Amino acid sequence: MRQGPRSSPELGAGPLLGHGEADTMPKEVPRPPRVPVRRILEVLAQIYPDVGSGLNFSTPFQCLVATMLSAQCTDRVVNQVTPALFAKMPDAPTLAAAEPAVVEPLIRHVGLYHTKAKNLVAAARLLCEHHGGEVPARMEDLLALPGVGRKTANVVLANAFGLPGLAVDTHVLRVSNRLGLASSRSPEVVERQLKRRVPRAEWGREHHRLIWHGRLVCHARNPECPACPLLPLCRWGKAYVKTQSARSGAAPPRGTRPGGVAARRDGIQRVGVQFDVKS
Ligand code: SF4
Repeated sequence: MRQGPRSSPELGAGPLLGHGEADTMPKEVPRPPRVPVRRILEVLAQIYPDVGSGLNFSTPFQCLVATMLSAQCTDRVVNQVTPALFAKMPDAPTLAAAEPAVVEPLIRHVGLYHTKAKNLVAAARLLCEHHGGEVPARMEDLLALPGVGRKTANVVLANAFGLPGLAVDTHVLRVSNRLGLASSRSPEVVERQLKRRVPRAEWGREHHRLIWHGRLVCHARNPECPACPLLPLCRWGKAYVKTQSARSGAAPPRGTRPGGVAARRDGIQRVGVQFDVKS
């Protein structure tokens, strides 16, 4: 049903928080720094106008399974193992009837496959016992499934049901902190800070945009700040470029100066993203 980075859920406008979130979310959340939020979101939308999940799935159940498998594993590896898994166990009843030992060989290329096989079977059995074999579209029901945390639940709500969900993974955590959209190491706090700053209708898309920017440009090590269209808006990036220039003992080479349009276009094209950012 879905292949990234192309599709995105259509989300509706509404109140601040989604289904059943208030119970597990921190009550007191520090205010992140003042940054030009709207402009940052506009630039992200221009770089990544149409992004979606990198996982392949065709039903909410398959979305749940693929997302559970993707913890500490790349989407590419998950997409390699899910066709055989879904061919043998396409829905909750077939997976619930299996033993974890039967599932393990099918997902052995995925990290932590022993634990994941146990969680998948347990989750499928719980779906059959309490939800008629269907994946529930409510945060609290998803969180009750073995091996499902807020990140997985948010991804399933957004990708499988088109409901508001803003999952905070390692990329979202890093990029949103660097950009000043958030200011915490806690995924829960960052989730709440982002949900306050990003329009509800954009939660799902913004999640994917931050992920793709983290994967392609704003790497954990050696981020491509001189080529990043967000550099003029990013205090962390400007400081990073300055530090790197000071270390190398030279000014940034011509054409890769921070904020230089030609450099930014070259850099983004080099990492494989369509560059069409209005200055
Ligand atoms: S300027 Fe650097 S730190 Fe800021 S978003 Fe771009 S790549 Fe990340």
